[in-house]
Amino acid sequence: MTKKFLMVGAGFSCAVIARELALLGHEVTVIDKNKHIAGNCYSKRDEATGIMVHVYGPHIFHTDNQRVWDYINQFATMMPFINRVKTISQGEVYSLPINLHTINQFFHKTCSPKEAKDLIESKADLSIETPKTFEEQSLRFVGKELYEAFFKGYTKKQWGFEPSELPASILKRLPVRFNYDDNYFNHKYQGMPKDGYTEIVAGILDHPNITVQTNQAFEKRMQEEYDHVFWSGPLDAWFDFNLGRLGYRTLDFEAFVDEGDFQGNAVINYGDESVPYTRISEHKHFAPWETHEKTICYKEFSRLCEPEDTPYYPIRLVKDKALLVEYVAQANQADKVTFVGRLGTYRYLDMDVTIKEALETADQVKLSLETKQKLKPFYVDMGV
Ligand code: UDP
Repeated sequence: MTKKFLMVGAGFSCAVIARELALLGHEVTVIDKNKHIAGNCYSKRDEATGIMVHVYGPHIFHTDNQRVWDYINQFATMMPFINRVKTISQGEVYSLPINLHTINQFFHKTCSPKEAKDLIESKADLSIETPKTFEEQSLRFVGKELYEAFFKGYTKKQWGFEPSELPASILKRLPVRFNYDDNYFNHKYQGMPKDGYTEIVAGILDHPNITVQTNQAFEKRMQEEYDHVFWSGPLDAWFDFNLGRLGYRTLDFEAFVDEGDFQGNAVINYGDESVPYTRISEHKHFAPWETHEKTICYKEFSRLCEPEDTPYYPIRLVKDKALLVEYVAQANQADKVTFVGRLGTYRYLDMDVTIKEALETADQVKLSLETKQKLKPFYVDMGV
């Protein structure tokens, strides 16, 4: 029997689930409070320069998951792109993630891979057996000097807390390499959509059974008109913050236009705490197959997310996790709603994981519909 679904948020999570359900013949409405689709992946051509801009900050697509890579390639021409990040620290430019070039430059050495490994091991604090915090993870795996040059200042600016208060999992995103490979990611597939991310999401949503309404905020009364709601807004917002607010970081971008090439690279990080921004993205370098005379850059500043701001990064400190447990308990009692995506499940998800989870959620939903079971509030491990 045909059902009516409401998807709140037009980012990857809801778009992917919407399409899967539309393909089964269900009637799906996707709403978004913003004037555009694609959530924080939204990209658009800058009018002054013609450059494709990642409006909510740099997004590089990378994955090991074949299903996700095949899926995205149905909706985009993925151009070859390798993210090679530089960082400026204490007056020098280094290569990130920490690799043999970084180590040799930093310690003024000409180490081989094995020598570099021994050197870093001699710097590492081996007394830390199971690192729990960001600081412990850094001290255990790269030692004090590299930690202070590359991670300490950046992390304080990015998260607004001491690295000793932050979880080790944040740093586990970054590899340390003992060769000259300066690819920021370890994944098998990496690329940049030729026509931007908005086009991908538009393609996913392009189905006769899907209606998209942008500039449309969710109202509780809408729930009555649908069999089920998929919510990709903040988990706590669904409950009108009745237990208090989960902590998020938001970003401010200071855009500037210049001639030619401003920094010679897509992303340059700033490791020093004295520099107020975390990184500068030069958007034309995300599309090296294009040529533009002018250039547009975004200086990125991170701060605590206030009620009226766009949430970007779930902070997940101990107090947030305790609150999360309570919200998850409430969510598990909620009816006719499923929580999805970075905000809906309050986790630091990359695009590929978001798409993977959305496809898996859709699989589970299909199964539940076939067997006439009630849809669940979560189809992912909430890790609480
Ligand atoms: N990080 C850092 N220095 C850097 C880059 C990253 O300390 O130059 C830390 C920082 O805490 C950051 C985390 O590593 O939040 C993950 O970095 P990633 O580049 O994956 O962040 P994203 O691009 O998702 O903001």
